[in-house]
Amino acid sequence: QNGRKTKVLGKDIQYYKEVISTNNQAKFAAQQDAGEGTIIVSEAQTSGRGRLARGWYSPAEKGIWFSVILRPHFLPQEAPKCTLLAAVAIVKAIETITEIQVGIKWPNDILYNKLKLVGILTEMNAEMDCINYIIIGMGINVNIQKNEFPLELQHIATSLAIIKGKKISRVQLLNEILFQIETLYNIAQAEGFVKILEEWKKYSVTLGKTVDVIGINDTFAGLAMDIDADGALLVKTKAGIKRVLAGDVSIRAK
Ligand code: ADP
Repeated sequence: QNGRKTKVLGKDIQYYKEVISTNNQAKFAAQQDAGEGTIIVSEAQTSGRGRLARGWYSPAEKGIWFSVILRPHFLPQEAPKCTLLAAVAIVKAIETITEIQVGIKWPNDILYNKLKLVGILTEMNAEMDCINYIIIGMGINVNIQKNEFPLELQHIATSLAIIKGKKISRVQLLNEILFQIETLYNIAQAEGFVKILEEWKKYSVTLGKTVDVIGINDTFAGLAMDIDADGALLVKTKAGIKRVLAGDVSIRAK
């Protein structure tokens, strides 16, 4: 890959024309001892995944559908913050390459004008207090045209090409994303996530908004006040402040 600016991330790249999902493929690779920083990239995913078994539309050659394998030294409880780290990295990379300013919707989406541009799915394998691997999967809508999206996504999704009115280089953007992730990941490993959470807050479009929190068993409304040191969302409700973890819920801004 030309133009790589990283030491570890993307040192090994597994490139595919088509996979079921890059996160699945990364899991196989990680179980076969793929090293830290290995990247799985595919031109298309036949069954890309969001959270809670939702699908991610990943048409051939129109997006950046990829996963990163990390083997960090920090504790398993820190892993959810890798989603926030990836979001900050992608926002910065998009700004650098396209000059488009985007916002982060807690925990795992990047939006432009309320439309979804990027999805992130972090998965972990850990034993006791030791992380074996973390996989961060990212789907970036790059060169999808509006009428190419499935009908049900046309009013909720967008792409960089739609926003800019021209095609964007996927290689250039991917290189910048890898560079930004590596920079933030080195900070996280050396000194923890404090700085990264501060940066995340600057880009958040969730904090300060009234949100509906839609869980598996209950749904409630409240004001998204802050995130705590674990990256959990703090929501002020009539019944007091509720702490919301990323795995369990969807958030709808009102
Ligand atoms: P949520 O934002 O509801 O928590 P996820 O983060 O799990 O959902 O993402 C999956 C959802 O994203 C799908 O249910 C679908 O509505 C939407 N989606 C699927 N593919 C794309 C895409 N390429 N671009 C934007 N949105 C998509």
